Amino acid sequence: MSALAMVVLLVVAFGAFALAAGRRWLLLRTGRPAQRFDRLGDRVAAVWRYAFVQERMDYYQPAGIAHKLIFVGFVVLLLRTLVLWGRGFVPSFNLWVLAPWMPLGKLYEFMKDTVGLMVITGVSVFFYYRVIRPMKRTTLSLEGLLILGIIFTMMVADMAYDGAAFVLAERDTTLCGITGHEMVSADQCKAIATIVAPYGEAGHVGWSLFPSPAGSFFSMLFEGLSPTALIVLAHAGYWIHSSLVLLFLNLLPHSKHFHVITAIPNVFFRDLSPYGRLPLINATLPSAAPAEAPEASAEANGAPAENGAPAEKKPYSETLMELVGAAGESADPTALAIGIGRIEHFSWKAILDFYTCTECGRCSDNCPAHRTGKVLSPKHLTLDLRNHLYSREKEFIQASTGASAKPAAPAAASGASGAEGSAEAPAPEAAAASNGDLAPKTDGVAPIDLVSTIIHPDVLWGCTTCRACEEQCPVMISYVDKIVDMRRNLVLVKGEFPHELQKPFQGMEVNGNPWNLSRMDRAGWADGLEIRTFAENPATPVLFWVGCAASYDDRAKKIARATARLLKKAGVDFAILAEEENCTGDPARRAGNEFLFAMLAETNAAVLNGYKEQGGIRQIVTTCPHCFNTLKNEYPDFDAKFEVIHHTDYLLGLLAQKKLEPQKAVAGKVVYHDSCYLGRYNGIFDSPRDILRAIPGVELVEAEYWTRQRGLCCGAGGAQMFMEEQNQNRVNVKRTLQLIDAVAKPSRSSASSSASAHAAHAAHAGHSGNGGHGDVLGKQGTVASACPFCMTMLTDGLKSQNLEDSFATMDVAELLDQSCQEDVLAVPSGDLAGVDLSIAAAHVEAPGSSASASE
Ligand code: SF4
Ligand code: SF4
Repeated sequence: MSALAMVVLLVVAFGAFALAAGRRWLLLRTGRPAQRFDRLGDRVAAVWRYAFVQERMDYYQPAGIAHKLIFVGFVVLLLRTLVLWGRGFVPSFNLWVLAPWMPLGKLYEFMKDTVGLMVITGVSVFFYYRVIRPMKRTTLSLEGLLILGIIFTMMVADMAYDGAAFVLAERDTTLCGITGHEMVSADQCKAIATIVAPYGEAGHVGWSLFPSPAGSFFSMLFEGLSPTALIVLAHAGYWIHSSLVLLFLNLLPHSKHFHVITAIPNVFFRDLSPYGRLPLINATLPSAAPAEAPEASAEANGAPAENGAPAEKKPYSETLMELVGAAGESADPTALAIGIGRIEHFSWKAILDFYTCTECGRCSDNCPAHRTGKVLSPKHLTLDLRNHLYSREKEFIQASTGASAKPAAPAAASGASGAEGSAEAPAPEAAAASNGDLAPKTDGVAPIDLVSTIIHPDVLWGCTTCRACEEQCPVMISYVDKIVDMRRNLVLVKGEFPHELQKPFQGMEVNGNPWNLSRMDRAGWADGLEIRTFAENPATPVLFWVGCAASYDDRAKKIARATARLLKKAGVDFAILAEEENCTGDPARRAGNEFLFAMLAETNAAVLNGYKEQGGIRQIVTTCPHCFNTLKNEYPDFDAKFEVIHHTDYLLGLLAQKKLEPQKAVAGKVVYHDSCYLGRYNGIFDSPRDILRAIPGVELVEAEYWTRQRGLCCGAGGAQMFMEEQNQNRVNVKRTLQLIDAVAKPSRSSASSSASAHAAHAAHAGHSGNGGHGDVLGKQGTVASACPFCMTMLTDGLKSQNLEDSFATMDVAELLDQSCQEDVLAVPSGDLAGVDLSIAAAHVEAPGSSASASE
């Protein structure tokens, strides 16, 4: 092996890589700030789970296994590559105890060959799915095939090098030693000595499983070759492996395989705040802290909130108004990063996301919009943004370098008016910058709006914010924050949004609900139930937060009534806010109207905190997962910090405490639909199912594939409830049909034995139950949900297929309510065996006891 050749190879290859990677680094640094250095333990744990164990790869098999094989192979073979480079300088180079004749070396040799074979298997699987049986979600590219070819060749080359060296090592003394009989030149002997130097006594011919199953296999193939051929093969194997790995390294920054380098940091630096918490518009920026909710900003920045009263706290809505006003007065209104309007508005972490996308397509494959033919494909959204960013790399690096040379003028960097601002009135950009670093370094950068130049508006407005894409992404790329940020820019800066949103925006602003119905009718759903209000009883410990849907939608009102009946039956001391309750602002926020959301959140927070000060509201119970998510995860940014409990968790707690006892058989087959904001966002998958299992007569079935974390969205989230779908292929219909399919399938006897026993018992007692079909509703099955919005979408889905007479849609609370009716039947209680109820029970405060309340 030649030291000179190795030096040249390494210097050229690493030099070229440093140049390319350096440019990517500089580009990354042009992103806006994001604080991601908090909770280091959690970050390391996430790296272990998602980058090393690769948990999310399990969603797709066998591609998931293939990827893990290649990953393990790369880690193990990295050592081998270092050894080979070392032999370029010192022919006998081995890593100490890993020499082929040492016990540990033999073990390593065995591992190396095994993982080499695993990598070849993994590459073959990928080749099969890309070329022979291409998967829709992936894109066949020359680059992808080239990389697969390089990996495959590297593995084979290394095995061939070993094989040829084994044969030469065994023949060494015969060929060049004192007992030599064959004719080889002195030069050939020198070459052989160099090749066999690291192998010592380890040479052999013929296959053996240990220590080198692959190398020995090649030695068997090469056994009859001439010394010249063996020398050529050994050199070729060595140099091909040593240089292809460097070629691979140099392709990384220019390809989707950049994730080999960026995946671990991308997982490490992911946003650790709750999935359901969208960031405040400039919350992650250090300089934003004084201008908005100080504690929230401090927490977002990873710093503990300061004790002691803040000097002056400007409401978030006021800050937003100033920002939007500043943008409006600017010569270039879209220059400021109010949401995301241009590629330069993204943070460095978003840029790292772009670098890291593997183009696997798992996100789009699970996206309800994409699956129903909308223009939105999360994968292509990322790729479009990445391509746009890459195409402007030079511009941004130059601008950033120029700006950093003039650190005193960041505020003037984004527009002409900033440069001309007078002494009395600060330039709008300067005002904005004082509220956070919203003015990116844009000197010399062409002003290119993302929407509609790069991204079609329909791409953004097709998103239901369901998080299915994020749940699937193996490298933890986020989508909802980016899409909502782009919507924010459209709504707040440009005033552009689908016309159907006009009415809900107005309704939320004027009457506190997106249907724009009278505020005075908000408690109409409770007529006849004698439910108290906080206005009459301010110290009530439990607030039943009803939400807009259950307050105004006729079908959803029944969910509120059922829940209230159950709470009363269990003796819970609760009250409602009635007309003091406003929409939480979830639809406004997800639709990009951050200002409207801020106003609603501030109003609600004032009401909630007002009653808290009077000794009330220890807990908030709600039937709406959107309200639940917003109150629990987003209202703390508005100083409204309460224990918020979804009604399924709360009701399960009441069951655990025997305050509710389902006795009446109420249903046959029931399939449960996971609400995105309850399940994927907040991890509540089991409580609704446990309640259903506790109801006599229920035979719980699951939708195939599309359940729990993979449940398809009903189509209502992200304010889609109030928008027209972009094509005729509706998300809610697709979801409804998936659920109906699960109910319509024949029962599995083992799964249904308990339920059948209940049903049979009920039938024997002369009550409902008709052999696994039918129920008190006289339907073929029931689609259960735990969200009033899902209820509407699924009911509409049934109607669209003329199936409303065959199947029922029921909230979990309604089914439980039916089972707990007074006319108790002689059937056994439902099955709570094996259900961990300790957490559920802990959610339930003893009725009327403020002593047990927690904050
Ligand atoms: S959040 Fe849901 S709808 Fe939006 S891009 Fe992701 S998967 Fe698609
Ligand atoms: S965003 Fe994630 S899931 Fe989607 S293609 Fe890229 S790596 Fe795959």
